[in-house]
Amino acid sequence: MEERSRHKVIYHKSGLPTGFALLNDPALNKGTAFTENERNELNLRGLLPPHIHTQEEQVERVLVNYRAKPNDLEKYIFMMGLQGRNERLFYRVVMSHIEELMPIIYTPTVGKACQEYGNIFRRPRGLFISANDKGFILDVLKNWPQQDVRCIVVTDGERILGLGDLGADGMGIPVGKLVLYSACAGVDPAVCLPVTLDVGTDNASLLNNPLYIGLKQPRLRGEAYDEFVDEFIQAVLKLWPKALVQLEDFANINAFRLLDKYKNRICTFDDDIQGTGGVALAGIYSALRITKGKLIDQRVLFLGAGEAGVGIADLIVAAMIDEGLSESEARRRCWLLDSKGLVVKKRTHLAEHKLPYAHDGEFQPDLESAVKAIKPNILIGCSGKPSTFTRAVLEEMGKNNERPVVFALSNPTSKAECTAQEAYTWTDGRAIFASGSPFQPVSYKGKTYVPGQGNNAYVFPGVGLGVIACEAKRVTDEMFFHAAKALAKTVTSDDLTFGLVYPPLTRIREVSAVIATATAEVAYERGLAGKPRPENILSYMRSQMYDPSYPKFV
Ligand code: NAD
Repeated sequence: MEERSRHKVIYHKSGLPTGFALLNDPALNKGTAFTENERNELNLRGLLPPHIHTQEEQVERVLVNYRAKPNDLEKYIFMMGLQGRNERLFYRVVMSHIEELMPIIYTPTVGKACQEYGNIFRRPRGLFISANDKGFILDVLKNWPQQDVRCIVVTDGERILGLGDLGADGMGIPVGKLVLYSACAGVDPAVCLPVTLDVGTDNASLLNNPLYIGLKQPRLRGEAYDEFVDEFIQAVLKLWPKALVQLEDFANINAFRLLDKYKNRICTFDDDIQGTGGVALAGIYSALRITKGKLIDQRVLFLGAGEAGVGIADLIVAAMIDEGLSESEARRRCWLLDSKGLVVKKRTHLAEHKLPYAHDGEFQPDLESAVKAIKPNILIGCSGKPSTFTRAVLEEMGKNNERPVVFALSNPTSKAECTAQEAYTWTDGRAIFASGSPFQPVSYKGKTYVPGQGNNAYVFPGVGLGVIACEAKRVTDEMFFHAAKALAKTVTSDDLTFGLVYPPLTRIREVSAVIATATAEVAYERGLAGKPRPENILSYMRSQMYDPSYPKFV
């Protein structure tokens, strides 16, 4: 028997699909909120129960169900299901409860979701472009149903958060990042595309897992890998020349190279390098308002010399140069420590990205001895190694600084270099602390401390909105520098009294509009914008932000 769809799609004179097809289009579906008139006109009678709900009532229903889920992974699955059924309701819930939802749709739960991706897989989201598609990538892109793509987040899944090579299961990250673009900065979901370049995996447990969703072969390397990535980039340029391409969670052997190769040729950035730099620098600016210190007087020690460490260090150097130091003086204020110890000149076989920070100095084999030797004012963890900010390390930081600045940025929570409780307790409540994944407020000696979350979501969505709205041709380091400054300015004195170095997430939409403005200012200043400068950039940015309210169809 010939197989046919059971569903006949009838279109309304407005061009909208009606009936079952309308209910099954997540971008158009309003569920029980379709009005009487819409139900009549759009062939929905009988397909919905009779009571008409408002979007606010639907939000309440979602929250009751969501909160009844037994664990965070179930909450994640539930929310992804909602995103696939009713996009506007999904965004309304996320935006109105961002502090509650962020740890579920992004780190830490998204990490767990990626580790379980094959097991919890329901329906695909985003484009999976595999090594088998080599030679046909343009055709694969053409299968994507949306015509005008402006914002792509692409990963090859090799360094998912601090969890390592998760292959195609890393798709949760581009999906989650794009949710943040829309929820935090109002980038229209209609122009967003998550992509996984499945070049294989070297993760043996995935290769042996019958439920793994990706290619079961070792990763492409060398020329074959570069050709594959380049074919993808060229295909994007051809089909969507105005798209912003955000590189995400590539391993550092490829991340630095790809960024260097493409940053002056296409509209691209690497969030792990540049976005992290922006958010950490903003946190430092806020911390200095508490310590009353000057940036150019700070000594910064990084545990971790990868994408995050070097990305942050590079932006701090740019900021110090802006405040009057020479490049070499600025670099000498930043020290990196990797898995083999302190990065110093006499070490051999250092990766290229570490060389600018390989200073003359005594080699120190571990963090404790490095803290003793360098006496940093600011300690930043971006190693992916938990419990490395030990009591001895933090006590030493406390000995050398009245208010030590301690950022434990590794994600997810299980990888944080120390907990908030440890940071406050071991410095006798004096640490100015922020982490990559959220920690609950801490009570110590009768005082409540609120840890800041150095979440990239403070920066990349706003930068993305700015770039997309002014059709910037490139994304530059200068944009992240100005984004960091703009973010720091949104922190109020009240925030600082709680030790908060970032604004609360509840203000994220306004913060993102401000960051988008700072980003676009740089684009206009440098002749990189593709659209004329609006009279008031901030109002223009606000006017461009996606609103998940239901439209009136008829
Ligand atoms: P990466 O793989 O590029 O770098 C990791 C670095 O840590 C390497 O230099 C490695 O040598 C070093 N390292 C590993 N074990 C170590 C040890 N025991 N002691 C000292 N150094 C050690 O990874 P990345 O992109 O830089 O990310 C690192 C971590 O930072 C991840 O957990 C990631 O989730 C987190 N991160 C957080 C944010 C944020 O919260 N804003 C942003 C980006 C990255």
